[in-house]
Amino acid sequence: MTTLTTSEQPKTGGYVAWGPLIWIAALHMGALLAFYPGYFSWSAVLVCLIGHWLTGGIGICMTYHRLLTHRSFAVRPRWLEYVLTFIGMAASEGGAIGWVADHRRHHAFSDEEGDVHSPNAGFGWAHMFWWMTPDITSRHTPEYLDKWAPDLARDPVHRFLNKFPAVPPLMTAVLVYSLGQMYGGLGMSWLVWGFFVRTIFVLHTTWLVNSATHVWGYRSHNTRDKSTNLWWVAALTYGEGWHNNHHAFQTSVRHGLRWWEIDPTYITVKLMSFLGVAYNLKLPKLTKLGPPATDATAKAIKAARKKRRRNDEEPELVGAAN
Ligand SMILES: [Zn+2]
Ligand SMILES: [Zn+2]
Repeated sequence: MTTLTTSEQPKTGGYVAWGPLIWIAALHMGALLAFYPGYFSWSAVLVCLIGHWLTGGIGICMTYHRLLTHRSFAVRPRWLEYVLTFIGMAASEGGAIGWVADHRRHHAFSDEEGDVHSPNAGFGWAHMFWWMTPDITSRHTPEYLDKWAPDLARDPVHRFLNKFPAVPPLMTAVLVYSLGQMYGGLGMSWLVWGFFVRTIFVLHTTWLVNSATHVWGYRSHNTRDKSTNLWWVAALTYGEGWHNNHHAFQTSVRHGLRWWEIDPTYITVKLMSFLGVAYNLKLPKLTKLGPPATDATAKAIKAARKKRRRNDEEPELVGAAN
């Protein structure tokens, strides 16, 4: 890890977010039950994968991120937005208002002082430590939520949903256990794989967007942050790993911009648009696209980071596309 300047070091003030910390730790403990062979069943693995797509792909990537944070498309009827938000809450990443506020702040200060989860403060910080001991300026006070997510904070239904972040996860736990029991006495198997393992899988894959795609991969666009495009994170997050494209065109509903940058979330929104429930899809001006990125981009970033470690100064990161 590079040496941090005082301004980059998060100021946690000794505060620990005990509620989320205990909840996420308990989920990890529950997921360890997957090592017990008696709880394994192929049907439970299928439930895990479907739940990962539903809560991670539809709930977090499509709804929390592209719909609520960036408003890169809209849905109708209006109540559909609340149903989708409820599905997102089942991912155990907290209520939508706090999530949206943190992410908008990430875009406002990407990899600079004020970014809630920049890997400048370490890979582990960007991945998960940032929410355990948040910087004093990014605690979820009413003022913080009003400032960064005023549209959601003013919406009475979103405000109501935001008060009960534990309800959707607990409901999914009861649901998968009950369905497993009905399917053939597989309640515990479905609970372990369809709830605990699924939730941990969703949490770490979505956290990789904050950590891995600000560290590894290639850059197609010379954005002022260190965001990257990384195929394996994109595969795990339904297209969210094309993160450098996203930082370059933040309101675009489409993140995978080249033919081989497959973006399942965009395909889903297009399908919803075809069905008439999604509209006002925002897209980037394709004329702005540069030539395809190459490995040289990643090498340039690596060399620049080495230089920074030697000189302890910020280098200019140059994308191959520019
Ligand atoms: Zn974003
Ligand atoms: Zn980012």
